[in-house]
Amino acid sequence: MRAAVTEGVGAMALVDRREPDAPARGHVVVAPEAVGICGSDYHFFAGELSEAAGGSQFPRVQGHEVGATVTSVGPGCRSGLCAGQRVALLPLRACGRCYPCSVDRPNTCDNFQLIGIHVDGGLQEQLVVPDSHVYPIEVEDPAVAALAEPVSIAVRAVNRARVQAGSTEHVVVLGAGPIGQCIGLVARERGAEVLVIDLQESRLELAQAVGAQTLVWTGLAEVVDAARRWAGVAGPPVAIDATGAPVAVRAMVDMVASAGRAVQVGMSGEEVTLRLGSLTEKELDLLGVSCCNADEFGEAVAVVERNVGWLERLVSHRFELERAPEALRFAMENPTEVMKVVIGGV
Ligand SMILES: [Zn+2]
Ligand SMILES: [Zn+2]
Repeated sequence: MRAAVTEGVGAMALVDRREPDAPARGHVVVAPEAVGICGSDYHFFAGELSEAAGGSQFPRVQGHEVGATVTSVGPGCRSGLCAGQRVALLPLRACGRCYPCSVDRPNTCDNFQLIGIHVDGGLQEQLVVPDSHVYPIEVEDPAVAALAEPVSIAVRAVNRARVQAGSTEHVVVLGAGPIGQCIGLVARERGAEVLVIDLQESRLELAQAVGAQTLVWTGLAEVVDAARRWAGVAGPPVAIDATGAPVAVRAMVDMVASAGRAVQVGMSGEEVTLRLGSLTEKELDLLGVSCCNADEFGEAVAVVERNVGWLERLVSHRFELERAPEALRFAMENPTEVMKVVIGGV
């Protein structure tokens, strides 16, 4: 079978690999059909995640946003799984022994393994996974199935923000990339009023299509002012950063209402300067987000099934598996043009 293997920093090659054996107890063999590429893939490809991957990241088959079809089901798997089924894959495996696992937060497990980063992922024709990580999903386009993973991050973010179903709260989302868009979608589905902010006006149309208000980023003070006016005098009770850009994080903390929730989703190694008074005077909850838990992945699958048409519009570019190296380079070199690059499913 063919596999796109990242062999070193910036080097990916298409190679022939031995097909997996029949699945062991509790395992399933799937054929990945579509793999979404995201920011963490760029960082991995650029060699910036070596430490997070235990120092021995190469060679590795990347791909953690996977839409696949089940090809065979091993003995002892849960019922309801069968060959031919379209599935999405929960990419995270937790150890079950560490402190975060012991307090039911396996998404922040100290020893977690992500497919496509710590173990081989979806950029190959077959992949073996534990049955508990396989989620049947009723969509025709495997690229849309692959979006269950970024949507699962959005579900986690909206849960961390405590935006419940039936909410009418004002929620500001900074960043209209795929994750920001999906946060807007999930918050809208729960009933919240949503304002999505981005530098690029062209990205805001998709957010409008789920009923979000939008604002083009002009500058810190102006945006904080505009967001507070939009939410009413007290400011938005919820602000979520999906950029990882220090100035956007600063805007999130400055704009959010007293007793509000500020949620950091955008990944970054950057350092941010905050006025500490923002935390003490406003008594903010400053919350982080890492992947998601199993029930949240299940909810993401349902969100995807309800929003196929809109999610298809998130997929801006598609490449065949043969062109995986080119696809990754294209995505890295054209950040303003690219929304979501998907490999396979062409
Ligand atoms: Zn991703
Ligand atoms: Zn753990």
